[in-house]
Amino acid sequence: MDRQLQDGFGRSIEYLRLSVTDRCDFRCVYCMAEDMTFLPRQQVLSLEEIERVAALFVANGVKKIRLTGGEPLVRQGIVGLCERIAALPGLRELVMTSNGSQLGKLARPLAEAGVKRMNISLDSLDADKFRAITRTGDLAQVLAGIEAASSAGFARVKLNAVVMQGRNADEVVDLVDFAVNRGLDISFIEEMPLGEVGRSRGESFCSSDWVRERIAERYSLVDSAEQSGGPARYVRLKDFPDSRIGFISPHSHNFCSTCNRVRLTAEGRLLLCLGHENSIDMRALLRRYPETDQPLLDALQAALARKPLRHEFSVGGEVQVLRFMNASGG
Ligand code: SAM
Ligand code: SF4
Repeated sequence: MDRQLQDGFGRSIEYLRLSVTDRCDFRCVYCMAEDMTFLPRQQVLSLEEIERVAALFVANGVKKIRLTGGEPLVRQGIVGLCERIAALPGLRELVMTSNGSQLGKLARPLAEAGVKRMNISLDSLDADKFRAITRTGDLAQVLAGIEAASSAGFARVKLNAVVMQGRNADEVVDLVDFAVNRGLDISFIEEMPLGEVGRSRGESFCSSDWVRERIAERYSLVDSAEQSGGPARYVRLKDFPDSRIGFISPHSHNFCSTCNRVRLTAEGRLLLCLGHENSIDMRALLRRYPETDQPLLDALQAALARKPLRHEFSVGGEVQVLRFMNASGG
């Protein structure tokens, strides 16, 4: 198969992030407001529609799909969906991002269904701070999920932490210790200004360079040119060869020039760039043309020609995109 989607700047689109639900059992302070209204069910893509979009992208050169949300594991039927997407001919890897709360029971079924790698969010190792950041999360349950994922047969398990001053910035080294002692990767993410979450974000912003300096006070860091097909830059630790430390820095290190991905929201809106509003309504096309994919492909190609060159977030700035992260699939 040599069909390949390209944008107007010649960047090949090989990576699709699919949000399978906007719902979640957590209410993380950087992602959601405390009191969220979720989409009515008929506005969310059905499992069959998600599968059809996935198949269309894979038939046109997408090699990697990440299922995300919201919390992907609160969607009924998620394991079966994974199994069907993982089996699409031409797909190199199906991966997932989860908050870990359901992995105690689902890690093994997901690995058996063909999910290759699992990213798990873990912002704090202190139960009270964890609860304060996630508003509803139970640290012990997530740690049990991480444990289950570590032995479920995934090729890799990676932790993700959004670092915020006054919340968990003092735990950066503890989180690295936790990851390396288990042979896991960990990525530190700069908070992005998505959605109005009821507080100013500038106050808590923590740059990747600051995080890296904290880690370097404890560990010998070795720069690495490794890529996982996503936006993270990696370093290795001299004494812990099994783990990689990633930095996802939308503010301080613009990663747009190598952008190879698009996102599909839970309601079927294809977002060409996380930092812009332009998008296409795939749900309308899926429902208008149940039998033929050509109109979808035409719309996709026309939209890709308009994919922006870069995003335009600013540090601690105003909210520029009114979507919440859970709706766009982080
Ligand atoms: N519920 C899953 C989870 O938490 O891992 C998957 C969806 S979540 C939206 C995906 C990732 O986006 C998580 O690692 C989360 O920490 C991150 N995230 C959410 N809101 C963010 C924001 N405003 N800035 C940076 N990262 C954010
Ligand atoms: Fe839920 Fe993930 Fe958003 Fe937290 S970051 S509220 S776990 S979707």
